[in-house]
Amino acid sequence: MDLDFSPEEHAFRRDVRAFIDAHLPAETRAKVMGDRPLDKADIVGWQRILNTRSWATPSWPKEYGGPGWDAVRRYIFLDELHQGGAPEPISFNVAMLGPVIIAFGTDEQKQRLLPRLANLDDWWCQGFSEPGAGSDLANISTTARREGDHYIVNGQKMWQGMGHWADWGFFLVRTDPSAPKKQAGITFLLIDMKSPGVSLSPIITLDGRHEVNSVFLDDVRVPIENRVGEENQGWTVAKYLLSNERTNIARVGVTKRILAKTRRAAEANGLIASPSFRAKLSRVEIGLQAVETLQMRLLAALAKDNRADPRSSVLKLKSVEVRQAASELLMEANGALGISFVAFEQGQTPPFDEADEGWSASAVCFNLRGASIYGGASEVQRNIVADTLLGLTRG
Ligand SMILES: Cc1cc2nc3c(=O)[nH]c(=O)nc-3n(C[C@H](O)[C@H](O)[C@H](O)COP(=O)(O)OP(=O)(O)OC[C@H]3O[C@@H](n4cnc5c(N)ncnc54)[C@H](O)[C@@H]3O)c2cc1C
Repeated sequence: MDLDFSPEEHAFRRDVRAFIDAHLPAETRAKVMGDRPLDKADIVGWQRILNTRSWATPSWPKEYGGPGWDAVRRYIFLDELHQGGAPEPISFNVAMLGPVIIAFGTDEQKQRLLPRLANLDDWWCQGFSEPGAGSDLANISTTARREGDHYIVNGQKMWQGMGHWADWGFFLVRTDPSAPKKQAGITFLLIDMKSPGVSLSPIITLDGRHEVNSVFLDDVRVPIENRVGEENQGWTVAKYLLSNERTNIARVGVTKRILAKTRRAAEANGLIASPSFRAKLSRVEIGLQAVETLQMRLLAALAKDNRADPRSSVLKLKSVEVRQAASELLMEANGALGISFVAFEQGQTPPFDEADEGWSASAVCFNLRGASIYGGASEVQRNIVADTLLGLTRG
């Protein structure tokens, strides 16, 4: 198995890097590198720049306006974005809904939605989870009943990432409560977030930021043409979407960035001389090398045989563990400065220089706690590993 890149792939990497260097707005890059929150305009602006080269939709085929890249080029592209301080294209639009519309949408939906998704003309959010449905997603209780050519939707969704910026949302709703299996009565609907009856309530997370929300749906009228796929077949659509959500999970480039910052801070304040700190740093660096090697092996396998690989659950598990461990070291390496961000986010005057890159360490660390929950919780990944890779059957 060849785990190295070909000369063409190295050339592609240089091309991506040169494009980022030439076109990424300096202010956006500074925010990403400094782990400061991005404004909606930063993200929209950058995605539109990428879209001028069809690069806003890395996984889309050429016939739908994507670049038609294979898995290795997609990986290199995202790695360069991560290491170069560039935001990723919004996954709700281009990694989740776009592929769903390509696979299940009508011709009219493809023509209307795909260009807008790519150009971030509309910002989308994901309305799947509920208070009683997360890992067990088929347990949703939000209902949609037919009334003429509309659905009337009622229920509560939870954890909608950037829902407060969203123009539209893709939702899972229950259209047949009497279906024999809970997966059978679910439908996939597109809902205009400005519709009467849609309201949001912010959830402030441990890092002091507003990223996630609860969404309440109260007699919301949704035209039937906003359905993707057949009525009661939404589970098939959702499974397809989730399999795409779980690709690009390792984010090795982001962890490399965190570790580089950790080293710089520890070298600047002398902590690097501590044998116990060096041992911890080495352990995380070795863990990252193992994750990167696994990522390369999965890419090589994918290039040969374009099928979902259950080893991606190991990749999700380990890459998140290593990223979380790296962020804990970042906080440790920055000492008191490393815990100042949360106070700043809560409106207090920063007792530090914003140019000092350590000040956001706690935000990075606290924000990453969620990474072992979303995109498939770690315990659920372990179940998959036990079932599919180790052949252990649960009683
Ligand atoms: C930061 C963040 C952003 C998110 N963004 C979105 C979004 O945009 N849209 C959206 O729809 N959802 C979003 N989610 C929701 C996310 O998908 C769910 O949190 C996730 O599916 C887990 O569901 P839950 O929170 O209900 O926990 P539960 O499923 O109730 O799990 C609770 C605990 O039990 C464990 N557990 C559950 N089932 C099993 C099992 N079978 N075996 C062993 N252990 C198990 C879990 O691992 C976890 O530790 C987001 C979550 C977070 C934290």
